[in-house]
Amino acid sequence: MATTPDSPILSLCKAGDDGPRRGAGRFRHWLEADREALAAFARESGEQAYRARQLWEWLHVKRADDAGKMHNLPASFREAVRGGGAVRSLAELDRRSSWDGLAAKWLFAAPAGGGTAAEVESVLIVEKRGERRTVCVSSMAGCPLGCVFCATGRLGYARDLSAGEIIEQVYRLDNHLAADSLPGVSHVVFMGMGEPLLNLDAVLRAAAMFANPDGLGISGRRIAISTVGVPEGILRLAESGVNYRLAVSLHAPRQALRETLIPAARRWPFDPLFNALSAFAASASRDISFEYSLIAGVNASRRDAVELADLLSGFPAKVNLIPLNPIPGYAGTPPPGAQVRRFRDILEERGVPATIRVEKGAEIGAACGQLRAGRIGRS
Ligand code: SF4
Repeated sequence: MATTPDSPILSLCKAGDDGPRRGAGRFRHWLEADREALAAFARESGEQAYRARQLWEWLHVKRADDAGKMHNLPASFREAVRGGGAVRSLAELDRRSSWDGLAAKWLFAAPAGGGTAAEVESVLIVEKRGERRTVCVSSMAGCPLGCVFCATGRLGYARDLSAGEIIEQVYRLDNHLAADSLPGVSHVVFMGMGEPLLNLDAVLRAAAMFANPDGLGISGRRIAISTVGVPEGILRLAESGVNYRLAVSLHAPRQALRETLIPAARRWPFDPLFNALSAFAASASRDISFEYSLIAGVNASRRDAVELADLLSGFPAKVNLIPLNPIPGYAGTPPPGAQVRRFRDILEERGVPATIRVEKGAEIGAACGQLRAGRIGRS
């Protein structure tokens, strides 16, 4: 993949470039402003401290979609809020629900950056008779990594999302649950469009907001970050002391095979990746999930299973086996069910815990990028 000076690979994990900023408005998006930033804004606007608390309520509890609706704030302060940044920035373009209503997918338009259309997908999945309500959130509009079996990867990359845009996705889907008189979002997984560890400042800022007890209050153990394996980002997570779960998209037990599926793996080979994962496992004292998409004739043989078990032997790992969800433009297909079960059994016999995960909501194109790809195909 060619990189440009603005490529997220070259700007890997830049520190401190995603915070609230000054400019046309003070904030890129109000949802990424923490309590201290709101307090400072109220103070500089000549308001008393309790106005910052009221503003927090409007943003994170009542979820106002316009500053003009914050009726208990003085008009002058409402105007200052309106001029200070976006309260809401995602426009709903499309939405699909599965036949049983337990999975739904949204396509949002985010403000274009540099004239580039930015469309993002978010998925809501309700499981275990409603006990688990998971949002799969996007961290980028598109993705630069080009994994061959991924609809998003085939569409290319528009831009990173801001923390506020990530938070807004979850709030919008949480609002949908509330409208259906259901409890709120219980889990968040960064498994939508984009590589979260290449936009780590925004991801960490958003995740902290999800965990904030004055907002959604989701336990860190119910927040998962999924990556193709960016060692520098994994090390930053290890050093940051956060307790989020980590899922690594492995998809191959050998470097050469992995590079054919994940071109970016050339940049991040197994040795530095597993060194970083060891550091994360030591810091977080927990298993790491390895995602493995099974593709018939590619990575699903007995040899692949044995090599995968050897690779992960002794590592605090569990493996999620995912029969490939076919996408237009990639000829791969999932193996037969018996082969999938045999693959799992080989891992388990060798001491590596493994489960078979069936993608929910296949008819709504729940794999990331499919809704946007379908829309482009129709337009
Ligand atoms: S699988 Fe993830 S990292 Fe790979 S192209 Fe798709 S969104 Fe990007």
